[in-house]
Amino acid sequence: MDTYPLTNFPDIRKKSVIHSAHGVLMIIPREGGSLARFYIELHSSTVPKSVTLAQLQESARKIFNPYELEFADTYWWSAYSIGQRLAERFHEQERVFLAGDACHTHSPKAGQGMNTSLQDGYNIGWKLGQLLSGRASASLLSTYLLERQKIAKTLIDFDRVWAKQIAAGKSVGDDGKEVDFSETFNNAEKLERLGEYLYSTPISLISKFTKPEEDIDSFIETIVILSGNRTETQQDQIPPCFMPVSGKYRMRDIHKIYIDDESYNYGHGHAYEFYGIDPDKGAIVIVRPDHLDVKIDGGAKGFKFNMILRE
Ligand SMILES: Cc1cc2nc3c(=O)[nH]c(=O)nc-3n(C[C@H](O)[C@H](O)[C@H](O)COP(=O)(O)OP(=O)(O)OC[C@H]3O[C@@H](n4cnc5c(N)ncnc54)[C@H](O)[C@@H]3O)c2cc1C
Repeated sequence: MDTYPLTNFPDIRKKSVIHSAHGVLMIIPREGGSLARFYIELHSSTVPKSVTLAQLQESARKIFNPYELEFADTYWWSAYSIGQRLAERFHEQERVFLAGDACHTHSPKAGQGMNTSLQDGYNIGWKLGQLLSGRASASLLSTYLLERQKIAKTLIDFDRVWAKQIAAGKSVGDDGKEVDFSETFNNAEKLERLGEYLYSTPISLISKFTKPEEDIDSFIETIVILSGNRTETQQDQIPPCFMPVSGKYRMRDIHKIYIDDESYNYGHGHAYEFYGIDPDKGAIVIVRPDHLDVKIDGGAKGFKFNMILRE
C-alpha cells in the first residue's frame, strides 16, 4: 500500500525490511517526503480477493510494534499473490511476440518488472522497425528470443533468491540485548538548549516570527546536521521541535535531521571536516532565502540572532 504513515519508527524514510513474529514488512520511501510504500507478506493461505485495507493496516501495526503506527491517509493498496513465472515461448512463429509481464512475472520488491518490460519492448521495437523499413531480414527477429529469454530467466532466478532472503532475515534485537545510546550522543544537551532557545515559548525566536495559523517551519526552517554515526543515534534523543509536525497530514517531518556519517551508497559525509567545523563545538549557519550563507557561529552557547525582521 502507498500510505502516509504517522509513526515513530526511525527508519521510515529509508528502504528497510522489518522482520517480526507477526510477519515481514518492507518499506520503500516514495517521492514527496511523506508517502511510503509498504509491502506486507501475508500468510500463504490468504485469498487476495478477501483482503481488506483494515486487515493490512492491522498487520502493519503488529509488525511495527513496539513502534507506533497510524495512517493519515492511504493513497493506493492492493493484494495479490506473487508467482515466479516464465513463459515457455516468447513468440508464435515470429509473428506474435510476448513482452513484459506477459512472459515473465515475479515479486515487485526488487523493482525490476517495468524496467525489464521496457527493455523487451525496446528490443523487439527496433528490430521490427528495421525489418519493416527493409533494412534487415526476418532472421533478425529470432535474436529477440535469444537476447530476452535469458534475461527473463536470470531475473526470475534472482527474484527467487531475493524473495527468500527477505523472508528469512533475522529480527533486530533477536539476542534480547538492548543498546544504550546515551553515551554516544554527546551533544544532546546542547541541542536541547538550542531547541528551547528557538522554540520553547511564544516569544522564542522562531515562534515569534511565525504566524499562529502557519506551520512552525513555514518561515524559518531549522535543519540539524549532526556529526557521528547514524546507527548510534536514536531518533527520540533529538528534541521534537527539530522534527515539527506539519502539512496536510500533520506528519512529523524527519527530513530536517541529517547525520554527517559515512554514506552507505556513494560519496561520503565529511561536511564538518570540509567546512572546518569542530564537532565538539558545532556551528550555526543562517541561510538566506536566496541560499547565501550569512553567518557562521561556533556552538549554540550564548548564540544571539541579530535579525532584520518584523515580528
Ligand atoms: C505493487 C507493484 C510494484 C511494482 N514496482 C515496480 C518497480 O518499482 N519497478 C519496476 O520496474 N517494476 C515494478 N513493478 C512491475 C511493473 O509494474 C510491471 O512489470 C510492468 O507494469 C509490466 O508492464 P507490461 O506492459 O508488461 O504489463 P502491464 O503493465 O500489466 O500492462 C498490460 C496492460 O494490458 C491490459 N490488458 C490486459 N488484458 C487485456 C485485454 N484482453 N485487452 C486489452 N488490454 C488488456 C491491462 O489492463 C494493462 O493495462 C511493480 C508491480 C507491482 C504490482
